[in-house]
Amino acid sequence: MQSLALARSRVPLGLSLRIAATSSNLVGARRLIHASRRVCAQEEPELKSQITERMRAKKFEVTGPARIFDESGRELDPYKGGPSALNKAVHLFFFTEIIRGMWIVLENFFRPPYTIMYPFEKGPLSPRFRGEHALRRYPSGEERCIACKLCEAICPAQAITIEAESRLDGSRRTTRYDIDMTKCIYCGFCQEACPVDAIVETQHHEYSTETREELLYNKEKLLANGDRAEAEIAANLHADHLYR
Ligand code: SF4
Ligand code: SF4
Repeated sequence: MQSLALARSRVPLGLSLRIAATSSNLVGARRLIHASRRVCAQEEPELKSQITERMRAKKFEVTGPARIFDESGRELDPYKGGPSALNKAVHLFFFTEIIRGMWIVLENFFRPPYTIMYPFEKGPLSPRFRGEHALRRYPSGEERCIACKLCEAICPAQAITIEAESRLDGSRRTTRYDIDMTKCIYCGFCQEACPVDAIVETQHHEYSTETREELLYNKEKLLANGDRAEAEIAANLHADHLYR
């Protein structure tokens, strides 16, 4: 419809036709050609015949129903090889389609239901599921995060705020790591960017709150999430390590 509007707004015909020629949607291309021809016929009748010739040279069908050609240029009949008239009449007379439809209903009647009784039952979650964020530690208890700020830079929602300083031993660590979970779009870019797998998204997704402030996570909250879910995070990272 956008292509059609373009043609109707009397853009240069050459441009309209180039769009038509490169369009993968042949129905849209055909509509555009018709529209271009209508514009053309009103203003420049001699150009109309030139356009028609050029469309024919590009093997576009300018008028009439859609036609399909094979590689050698032979026209194919899309309806050839379908059920015969007798076959159709037999199905119509004996209501076979209705009986098949009722059989499918009967089959599904005795199948176990696909629905689950959430929240008492829960469906499986992928190891790649992106839920609540967490900051991880090394087994020694030291924070993984080296305050490189890659996650802050890549976050498209600008939900992460980091402040950092150097320690006496020369290592860099964050003094502030905040995530505004109300801004987060759970894209997972932060965990993809992190060189030390410090910031991760856990499978925990049931953390609705009553106030907005509860969704402003600070470093302590994120580290606590990481400590609580470390076994689950490590198992998920291991399950997915071949694809990372
Ligand atoms: S998941 Fe995406 S939007 Fe959310 S904090 Fe990470 S990078 Fe930002
Ligand atoms: S969480 Fe990872 S990416 Fe973000 S600052 Fe820390 S080390 Fe860098």
